[in-house]
Amino acid sequence: MANQTTEPIPLIAIDGPAASGKSTVGRLLAEQLNYLYLDTGCMYRAVTWATLQQEFDVEDETAVIQLAQEIEIEIFPVRDGEADGRHYTVLVAGQDITWQLRTPAVDANVSQVSSYLGVRQEMVKRQRAFGERGAVVMVGRDIGTVVMPDAPLKLYITASAEERARRRTRDRQAQGHTASYDDILADVLRRDQIDSNREHSPLRPAADAILIDSTDQPPAAIVNAILQMLKEPVNGN
Ligand code: C5P
Repeated sequence: MANQTTEPIPLIAIDGPAASGKSTVGRLLAEQLNYLYLDTGCMYRAVTWATLQQEFDVEDETAVIQLAQEIEIEIFPVRDGEADGRHYTVLVAGQDITWQLRTPAVDANVSQVSSYLGVRQEMVKRQRAFGERGAVVMVGRDIGTVVMPDAPLKLYITASAEERARRRTRDRQAQGHTASYDDILADVLRRDQIDSNREHSPLRPAADAILIDSTDQPPAAIVNAILQMLKEPVNGN
């Protein structure tokens, strides 16, 4: 970690596989530091939702890329009166689609959509523009490796696939959906497989990322450890 000075760092990059706890850690960290929070997964999900909505074939790369280039995505922090468990609000062309981003249909297709280079180039351009504001925690799959390779602090959060599937099943059930652990585990493994093996920006830790296994650690403990790291100058001086 490049925390050689006491200057606040402008950007924290967090990557990791599906349901590893990275979004919860990123959000809590942003709250504690009073930073902006960007969950880049929701942008790929928004493109996927729009693709399904328009009944395009997700295999039609040209059409999906064109849609990604044209789609208007806005992401806002939660406002008063939105106490339905959301952590941010996503609008596509002005329509609130925050909850539609989490449907099994989007889960099933998002890794295909996000494997297209043209989709990634468009989303990365938007993510970098967001990162330039500074004081940002950005969460995804390729933030430390591709989107913001100069981020002074890069974290890579993992957990066992079984634990990740248990968490996702609990979340789904808490939102009132019927959710089968076996189906969710299969989806998590399938997405890991596509995200890690795709040609463009595969999921992997940056060479200088700090690796964190969240299997047996609650998010608050991880956040506290990171806040502690940020306070301690390198070499313990
Ligand atoms: O993080 P989340 O599970 O919401 O991400 C959904 C999908 O979006 C991932 O499975 C991955 O295919 C894609 N994604 C990506 N690059 C990112 C963030 C998400 O390819 N930076």
